[in-house]
Amino acid sequence: MTPPGTPGPVVCPLCERAIPPAQRDAHHLVPKSKGGRQTEFLHRVCHRQIHALLTETELARQYATVDALLAHPELQAFVAWVKTKPDDFFVRTRKSTRVRGRKR
Ligand SMILES: [Zn+2]
Ligand SMILES: [Zn+2]
Repeated sequence: MTPPGTPGPVVCPLCERAIPPAQRDAHHLVPKSKGGRQTEFLHRVCHRQIHALLTETELARQYATVDALLAHPELQAFVAWVKTKPDDFFVRTRKSTRVRGRKR
């Protein structure tokens, strides 16, 4: 399926699934604002999850490697869950129908 001359699929180091080009996000292991330069490609959904759970200070101090990220209990739970989804899975944050349907 891969055309000749094309590098192999980019695999997300967090969930170990292939990343479709449209879902590819570069994550700075040490945030840019903290002087970080090294990036890893992640799924957009995985990337969002990292930043939803951790501040830039925490990332710089404690979670500047993929191994450290994978040791985070809530990220572990997320990875276990997202692995059951298709490679191009992306959750939109949306309000539940219950919340949307309610008129004030
Ligand atoms: Zn990032
Ligand atoms: Zn991923």
